[in-house]
Amino acid sequence: MKNIRLRIAGDGTLCVSAPMRTPISEVERVVVKNVEWIKKATAKTVAQRPTEIKREYYTDEKFLYLGAERTLVVAQGRREGVEIQDDYIFLTVAKLDDFDRKKKLLDKWYRTQTEQILSQRFYAQVERFRALFPDEYALKIRSMVGRWGSCMITKKTVTLNSKLIYADASLIDFVILHELCHFKYKNHDKDFYTLLSRLCPRHKECRKALTNKIIYYSH
Ligand SMILES: [Zn+2]
Repeated sequence: MKNIRLRIAGDGTLCVSAPMRTPISEVERVVVKNVEWIKKATAKTVAQRPTEIKREYYTDEKFLYLGAERTLVVAQGRREGVEIQDDYIFLTVAKLDDFDRKKKLLDKWYRTQTEQILSQRFYAQVERFRALFPDEYALKIRSMVGRWGSCMITKKTVTLNSKLIYADASLIDFVILHELCHFKYKNHDKDFYTLLSRLCPRHKECRKALTNKIIYYSH
């Protein structure tokens, strides 16, 4: 990058990016100079944050999953578990009013789905563009704030934000392709975006569609 850039992440964190070897004093100068803007932008971001949803895990509650709201259907039964069918998430629990148990079952289901779906999609994209990405790549999944993915080039490892399970599959693929492109081009330069446009022509739209709403969503 050519200039020092300030950005407020969805959680209100200030992110500063600067060209390589910029003296720290120069970074500090820019931050101090823009302190009024930082204060305003932070306040605005925090105010826009959706308030946390209160969960009770009763039938008809809505849960975001792969880009669509699904309706929870809770039933009593001895064979506890969670299943998805079209727009419905079926939760079977021994005691209908056991909040902790219901939460635990759903958390576990989301975790398993996240692991499965993100890794399936990741390795499918690697396979799809095998000629470009011939190596063995590792995938890590964890909850992150302010970023959807990251890439450790030397370790050939991509980390994906577990909250991507709330996003549409096409947006998951966009994040995966963005990170994979870093194995070819380290920085977000012209070459990087040329390659990303080839692999994911709708990348600009996708970027816009990945909103803070999803980052702050919780099931
Ligand atoms: Zn990047």
